[in-house]
Amino acid sequence: MAGGGSAIRGSRVGAGPMGEAERGEAAPRQRVVYFCAHAHQSVVTFAVDAQVPDSWDCPRCGLPASQDSENPPPPPKIEPYKTHLAYVKERRSDQEAADILDEAIQLLRERRKRGEVVF
Ligand SMILES: [Zn+2]
Repeated sequence: MAGGGSAIRGSRVGAGPMGEAERGEAAPRQRVVYFCAHAHQSVVTFAVDAQVPDSWDCPRCGLPASQDSENPPPPPKIEPYKTHLAYVKERRSDQEAADILDEAIQLLRERRKRGEVVF
């Protein structure tokens, strides 16, 4: 009786490799940890034969992250905490961006006016 039970188990174990292949879990993978300037740790899973990038955008804050926890890449120069005036003083290209933004706002206002007429 007991012998029959173990025989069934044995057959299941023997069928293992084929079952794993069907589920796709046998494919070798590697886990790479990236660190951003905010000390977030992001674990990204790649296939072993995939080319692992040196940097990865942190999914939590969007900053670039690297595999070197001691030396994460610096955050981009454009930071959302600076005031609009600071941008204008720092760089002319930001002034151009501000002009574009003003145009966009004017367009939006015109659309709103049309909306008011309709209502
Ligand atoms: Zn982050």
